[in-house]
Amino acid sequence: MNTETANPSTQSPRETLGFQTEVKQLLQLMIHSLYSNREIFLRELISNASDACDKLRFEALNNDGLFEGDAELKIRVAFDKDARTLTISDNGVGMSRDEVISNLGTIAKSGTREFFSKLSGDQKKDASLIGQFGVGFYSSFIVADKVTVLTRRAGLPASDGVRWESEGAGDFTIEASEKAARGTEITLHLRAEGQDDLLASYKLRSIIRKYSDHIMQPIVMKKEEWNAEAKAQVMTDEDETVNQASALWARNKSDITPEQYIEFYKHVGHDFEDPLTWTHARMEGKSEYTQLLYIPSRAPFDMWDRNARHGIKLYVRRVFIMDDAEQLMPTYLRFVRGVVDSADLPLNVSREILQESKDIESIRNGCSKKVLGMLADLASSEEASEQEKYTKFWAEFGRVLKEGVGEDFANKEKIASLLRFASTLTDTTDETVSLAAYIARMKPEQEKIYFVTAETFNAAKNSPHLEVFRKKGIEVLLLSDRVDEWVVSNLSEFDGKALVSVAKGGLDLGKLEDEAEKQAQEKDAGDFKELTEKIAKSLGERVKEVRVTHRLTDSPACLVADEHDVSGNLARILKAAGQNAPASKPILEINPHHPVVLRMKAEESRFDDWAAVLFDQALLAEGGHLDDPATFVKRMNQLMLDMSGASAS
Ligand code: ADP
Repeated sequence: MNTETANPSTQSPRETLGFQTEVKQLLQLMIHSLYSNREIFLRELISNASDACDKLRFEALNNDGLFEGDAELKIRVAFDKDARTLTISDNGVGMSRDEVISNLGTIAKSGTREFFSKLSGDQKKDASLIGQFGVGFYSSFIVADKVTVLTRRAGLPASDGVRWESEGAGDFTIEASEKAARGTEITLHLRAEGQDDLLASYKLRSIIRKYSDHIMQPIVMKKEEWNAEAKAQVMTDEDETVNQASALWARNKSDITPEQYIEFYKHVGHDFEDPLTWTHARMEGKSEYTQLLYIPSRAPFDMWDRNARHGIKLYVRRVFIMDDAEQLMPTYLRFVRGVVDSADLPLNVSREILQESKDIESIRNGCSKKVLGMLADLASSEEASEQEKYTKFWAEFGRVLKEGVGEDFANKEKIASLLRFASTLTDTTDETVSLAAYIARMKPEQEKIYFVTAETFNAAKNSPHLEVFRKKGIEVLLLSDRVDEWVVSNLSEFDGKALVSVAKGGLDLGKLEDEAEKQAQEKDAGDFKELTEKIAKSLGERVKEVRVTHRLTDSPACLVADEHDVSGNLARILKAAGQNAPASKPILEINPHHPVVLRMKAEESRFDDWAAVLFDQALLAEGGHLDDPATFVKRMNQLMLDMSGASAS
C-alpha cells in the first residue's frame, strides 16, 4: 500500500491508501453481480456489528473496563433523508487503526486465490461464486457510492478513533478522529439513483425483520409516530427494538420458522446461499448443551486447506466464546457450520482447556452422531427431494466425509454406510452405489465386495484387472479419488463382507469359479512354467514374481501387488505427496490365452525386449509411469519393424 497524499490542514494527517488488488476486483464485480439482491448489505453490516458485540462481551470477561460503563450491547440503524445517508452503528469491540487498514483494505481469507481463478466473467455464475466467497462489509458499495467508517477500539482513549472513507474505487483514506463512544459507526452515502426506498423506516424495518431477526443483540431504530397535524409519520426520540433480540438457538423449535433458521445460517456460516439442511437439539445428560448445526449447500473455497476456519461457534450460556472451535467437530466434518451453546463449561474456557475437556469430548461425540444421523436420514429418505439433497451433499462433501472412515473409529460403520461409489454397474462417474446396495446385488455365490483403485476414473474403468469380473458379470466398485486408498486401507469389511482389491494378491473368486475352471487354470500354470520363469529371469529386479493368471481375457498381462504390499496406485500417490512408499515389487501376471503371450513362447533373439514391453505396457495400463519411456518407445518401434519385416538400423 502506498501513501499518496496527506492533508496538511488538519492536525492528524489524512492518508490515502490503495486497496489490495483483490479488493478492487471484488468490489467491481460485486456491485454489478449482486445488485439484484441489494438489500443484503444491511444483513452483512448487522452481522458484522453483532460479531463485534460478541467479541467485546468475550474480551470483557477478563477485563470489565472494556465496557466503559456501558454493558448494554446494541446495534442501531438510522437514516437521514436529506443527506441521503444510512448509518449502522454498534457499541461492540471497534477497531484500531491497524485493524481498520487490514480488515477493510485487504482480504485475508484462505481460498482467495482459488476464488479469483474461478471467476468466469459471466455475471450470473460469478454472482453465485461471490456469494459463496462472502462479501461482508464490501457489500455496502452495492447501494452506496461513498462509505464512511468511524470506529474506536474498546479500551482506547477517545482520541484514538479512526475515520476511514472510500468511494469503492481504487483507494480509501484514513485519519485519526475523536470518537467518544467505543464501537463502529458505518455511514452509507446512498447512490443517486434507485435507493430512495431505503430512506424509509418501514422499509428498513422490514429488511431487518426479514434478514436479521435472529440477531441476539437488540437492533434499535427511532420510533415513528403518526402526527395528525403534519398528516405524516414523524420520527420521535424514543428507541424501539426491531428484532426479537434473543439467541435463536435458545428458542423453542416450534417458535422458529424455516426462514429464520435459514437467515441465521447465513449469519453464522458467512454464506449467501441457503443451507442444505440443519439439526437443532437441546441435549441433556452427562453434559448439557444446545446444538444448531447446518450442512451448507456448497463446499467453501478453502475446504482443502487444513488450516481453514472451522465452522462452529462456541457459546457458553449465550455468551460468545470463540469462532472456529475446531475441537467441537472432527476434521472430517469440518464443513458443518453452526452453534454449540454449553451450559457446563466455565466462561473463561480457552482453546487449551478445550483440548483436554471431557465435556468437549462428549459434545464432539454428540455433535458427530447428530450430523451422521442427519445425513443417514437424508440418504435413506423415501422422499425424492431428500434423496436429491443427499446426492448434492455427496457431490460437495463426499470426499471429506470419506476421511472419517480412518479418523473416527467409533462411527466407522455408520460412515461406511454413507459412502457412495462409482461402479461397473453403470460404468459412469456418478457416485451412487452404497455398500449396502452392492451387497444386495451380489451374486448368490459371491462372498466379497470387489473394488479397483486407480488414479483416474478411466484408468479404473478400463483396468485389465476387471476383465474376468466383467466376463462373469460381477460388479466392481471403481475408486479413483486419492482418498479412496485411505478409505479401503481402513475399511476391511462392511456388514460382514470383506472388501477386496481386484489388483492385489492371487485372484481367488471362491465359489464364483467351478471345478472345470480351476482345473484348466492348474493346467495352464504347468504349461507356462517355463515361460514365466524365463520372463522372471529377464525382468530380474523389476518383479517379485511372474505367474499365469485367469483374471485377464483381453489383455496380455497386468501387474498386481502382493497381498500385504502397497498397491501400485497407493505407491504413486505417496510418491506424489513426497512420501516414501515402502519398497515393494509388483507381480507380473500373464494371460495364457493371449496371442502375444503365446508368441513369446517361440521368441528367441528379442525375448528380453518382448518381456520388457510386456511389463511396461502392464504398468501403463494401470496408470503407472515408465522409468525410462524413451527406451520403451525404441523397443516398441523395433518390434513393430520386426513384424513388418523391416529393420530399424
Ligand atoms: P468477514 O466478516 O467475513 O470477516 P468483512 O469484510 O465483513 O468480512 O469484515 C472484515 C473484518 O472487519 C471482520 O472480520 C471484522 O474483524 C472487521 N469488522 C467489520 N465490521 C466491523 C464492526 N462493525 N466492528 C468491528 N469490526 C468489524
